Amino acid sequence: MAPITNAPNGDTPLLRVLLRPTESIPGLVSRYTVHPEHKEWQSMQQLSIKTPSGPLEYTITHRPRVTKRLHMELDENGSLVVVAPRHWSKRHIKATLSQNTSRVERFLVQAREKQIAPLRYADGEAHLYLGQRYPLTIVAIEDGRSKVAFTGQEIRVEIRKEGKANVRTVLQSWYGKQALKVLGERFQLIKESVPWAKDRSVPLKVRRMKRTWGNCSSKGLIKLNTHLIKAGIPVIDSVIAHELCHLEQMNHGKKFYMLLESLNPDWRRDRNHLRVEGSVYLL
Ligand SMILES: [Zn+2]
Repeated sequence: MAPITNAPNGDTPLLRVLLRPTESIPGLVSRYTVHPEHKEWQSMQQLSIKTPSGPLEYTITHRPRVTKRLHMELDENGSLVVVAPRHWSKRHIKATLSQNTSRVERFLVQAREKQIAPLRYADGEAHLYLGQRYPLTIVAIEDGRSKVAFTGQEIRVEIRKEGKANVRTVLQSWYGKQALKVLGERFQLIKESVPWAKDRSVPLKVRRMKRTWGNCSSKGLIKLNTHLIKAGIPVIDSVIAHELCHLEQMNHGKKFYMLLESLNPDWRRDRNHLRVEGSVYLL
């Protein structure tokens, strides 16, 4: 699997202010004249472009100093704000963004990561499991061992000693067990349907990793990231399919992608999902 470029390093402080422009896209300023439309612009407009992972909404705004390039920012809701030179038409802005979707998505991942609030492990806080968010219900118990029960509506943490660190430890160990079970089952299921894998034994390890979603060693050992348990089944399956293809092709060449396409025609969508949303799974 391609390395995760957005691995958070420890707790990231909550950032509630607008990020400074950190990315700019050069534009063909000289070829564009003032577009008549722009006079009618409001200061903000809700627009969208198509990206491999679906439509991406953005608003346009202007600043006196922005005269030659597009700048990208996040607003406080984590949405994309495009600061454009005044004389650029909406169409030109859209075309520029559309031609740079991978840069736009990379910017969003990095900027949102800075904006992610660290988890508090508090009662009622939403936590991810198999692609859905569920509230934590924390119950103090006097006897017995601390444990986690998933009810389908909530993640119930029964804990002997309350406090963020304890809840976190109990929850992480539950995620670890669920990952071992669910990722293991999905792995077996998919492996059985893969012609080059079904008749061989393929050892699997599930580990918490910071930099990859999965990998496959030259000896054919596959490792999957425990944090994938927070993603939906299609995304989990996609990482498994990717690693199973490495049993045949150890590189990311054309033949590799042909195999991957045969197992999962939606691999681009899933890869982009991990690029955009993956940083929250790593918390
Ligand atoms: Zn790979």
